[in-house]
Amino acid sequence: MTTQPKERIDLAAAYRLIAHYQMDDSIFTHISAKAPDDEGENTFLINPYGLRFDEVSASSLATVDIDGNILRDTYGAGINKAGFTIHSAVHAARPEIHCVLHTHTVAGVAISSMEEGILPLNQWALQFHNRCAFHDYEGIALDLGERERLVSDLGEHKVMILRNHGLLTCGRTVGEAFGLMFNMERACRAQLAIMSSGGALRKIDPALAEKTAQQYENWDKQHSGNKPDPQWDAFLRLATKNYPDLAN
Ligand SMILES: [Zn+2]
Repeated sequence: MTTQPKERIDLAAAYRLIAHYQMDDSIFTHISAKAPDDEGENTFLINPYGLRFDEVSASSLATVDIDGNILRDTYGAGINKAGFTIHSAVHAARPEIHCVLHTHTVAGVAISSMEEGILPLNQWALQFHNRCAFHDYEGIALDLGERERLVSDLGEHKVMILRNHGLLTCGRTVGEAFGLMFNMERACRAQLAIMSSGGALRKIDPALAEKTAQQYENWDKQHSGNKPDPQWDAFLRLATKNYPDLAN
C-alpha cells in the first residue's frame, strides 16, 4: 500500500507509460508536473538525473522550484537543469498547465523535420488540426531569449512541434498531457507509414477536419479539471499492474 501522493503517482506512471510505449529517449527529455501543495507553492516534480524512464518511481521524483533549484532529491543525483528550462518557461507562462511532456521519438522527430508537420490524414491527426503550435530550432542551449520565443510560439495551445527536435504537450492534468502525447505520437507514426507506402495522400476536407477537432474539444470539456478521466484511469491501471514499483 503506497503512501505517496496522487501527484507523484500520476507522474511516475506517466514516465513508465512513456517507456512502455517506447516514447522515451535514454535518460533524456522530461515530464514535469506541479508538486503536491504541501511541498511548497510553485514547486514542480521532475525525474532525477540519470534514471531511465522505466526506473522512475513516485518517491524518486525530485522537487524543484521554477528556476530548477532542487528542494527535495531522495535519489541524490540532482536534475538535468538545462532540460527543465523548456518546462519552467511553460509553467511560468501558463499557470493553468499542471503537466508538460516532451519527447524525442523517431516518429515525432521525423514529423518535426517536415515543413507542414502533422497532416490531416486520419482521426488521430485531426485532434491537432489548426491547434498545433510550432517553434523553430535554435540549438541545444536554451537561453532566456529562446524561452520567451518558445512561450510566445506556444501561445494558448496545448501541443507544439519543436521543429527538427521533437514534440511537446501540456495538460491541466498529467492524464491530459499524456493523452495528447499518445495521440500525437500515433498521428506521427501513421503519417510516416502512409508516406513510406508511396500511396497517394488523401487529405481530409478542412471543414470536416475542423468539425472533428471540435468534437475532440467537446470530449475534452467533459473530462477537464477534476471530472473523471476514464482514459487516464485506464492507462493508470496498465501502469500499476505492469510496474507496481512505480508507487514506491
Ligand atoms: Zn528535447
